[in-house]
Amino acid sequence: MNNRLYGNLIFELSHPGCKGYSLPRNRFGHHELPAYLRRAHDADLPECDELTVVRHYTNLSGNNFGVDNGFYPLGSCTMKYNPCINEETANLPQFANLHPLQPADSCQGALEVEYNLQHSLAELTGMADFTLNPFAGAHGELTGLMIIRSYHQSRHDDKRVKVIVPDSAHGTNPASAAVCGLEIVEVKSTANGLVDVEDLKPLLGDDIAAIMMTNPNTLGLFETEIPEIAKLVHACGALMYYDGANLNPMLGACRPGDMGFDVMHVNLHKTFSTPHGGGGPGSGPVGVRAGLEQFLPSPHVFKADSKFAVSNSSFNHVGAFLGNFGVILRAYTYILSLGRENIKMVGPLATLNANYIKESLKDVYELPITGLCKHEFVFDGLKDKSTDVTTMDVAKRLLDYGYHAPTIYFPLLFHQAMMIEPTENESRQTIDGFIAVLRKIAQEAKDTPDVVKSAPHNTPIARVDDVLAAKHPILTYKQLVNDKD
Ligand SMILES: *Cc1c(COP(=O)(O)O)cnc(C)c1O
Repeated sequence: MNNRLYGNLIFELSHPGCKGYSLPRNRFGHHELPAYLRRAHDADLPECDELTVVRHYTNLSGNNFGVDNGFYPLGSCTMKYNPCINEETANLPQFANLHPLQPADSCQGALEVEYNLQHSLAELTGMADFTLNPFAGAHGELTGLMIIRSYHQSRHDDKRVKVIVPDSAHGTNPASAAVCGLEIVEVKSTANGLVDVEDLKPLLGDDIAAIMMTNPNTLGLFETEIPEIAKLVHACGALMYYDGANLNPMLGACRPGDMGFDVMHVNLHKTFSTPHGGGGPGSGPVGVRAGLEQFLPSPHVFKADSKFAVSNSSFNHVGAFLGNFGVILRAYTYILSLGRENIKMVGPLATLNANYIKESLKDVYELPITGLCKHEFVFDGLKDKSTDVTTMDVAKRLLDYGYHAPTIYFPLLFHQAMMIEPTENESRQTIDGFIAVLRKIAQEAKDTPDVVKSAPHNTPIARVDDVLAAKHPILTYKQLVNDKD
């Protein structure tokens, strides 16, 4: 353990009687909580001076890895740069101090942002309208499936209880369908990693509500058969759902609405540059094609007589108020700061960067699916199978060189999967540095495999036993003391 970086626990820095605060003298006389609400003993809290507290937490924050302090090629997550101007907008007191129950007349600016973002997303994706209410991608999937169910119900088409999900889909797809009360039918991938149209055909019938597709899919491959699939799916009366978490490489290049998708979600926290990680915050707006607008959830922002208003009915709610407004502001700022022309470069540059890394490393890392990828691709471990250095070892060794590891052991289709997504933001120099380090690790795997297998060596905490950490996590200070004893 590197003590300079990691430091002590705040409890270990405690000196009994030491104070880091001063409160004004109590001017209100003596008050005491009823005895039954009081502790029998004082809580054992750390006692430190103010500067010790500031240093402790500032040093801890320095141990956090983020897009702002290093390259973060985490596949399937689109960890793109979150410009400071997004944060400045979200922090403007005129926005940050709004109350969600304010009358529409007193927050026209905020409603205009919502309205404009609904329309920007519709234009970028080829949909007719959007709701900004869902709080995550998975929440968007659930909302989208509920919209699809409402559509079928409105036609008294009650037999449609099944959803088709490709075997390559993100885990949230079958999970959302199950939460929506729908049955999941799996469609297989071809050897090239695309949805197998021949496997799909016999699955289609009058009990199918929708197919959920991701494009490019979770292998980073463009689903080329979508026009054919859309024709087949629509012919059987079902709808096309687009999981837009992978929209990044399409941004400015093509639109799901033009491919025949009826309902979709986007992840503002991926494609539209708002920070995510550690579980939040997120936003998963849902778009629908023309003819399905009436199934969007409420409340919804619209414009009437040059004023912005909120439609509100007591049913069809998927979340409180008008979505995750801080994230909505960041995404809108990002779209405006790129502008109509620059946003068209997002998809092509993300795609170029991924292909550049893939082609530069395929002689030392196993590339199971060759050819052009989109924004991300998968290696299946080191090419040299004579060492026992695994994908886990390579990922840990990358931390020593100051890089976040790629996504590993996902997708499940490959045993040593290593999924790399650079995003469009990275410079040629950064990407070349990453390539050089991955080549160096491949060489180390031959020359000094033990160094790779015991990595990381330069991080505050060395390699943890993840099985033990998952099965017997030590989550309290007290237990840690007991352990030392
Ligand atoms: C991230 C992701 C999701 C889920 O989004 P959350 O915001 O994490 O709920 C769904 N599908 C794909 C392909 C994803 O990459």
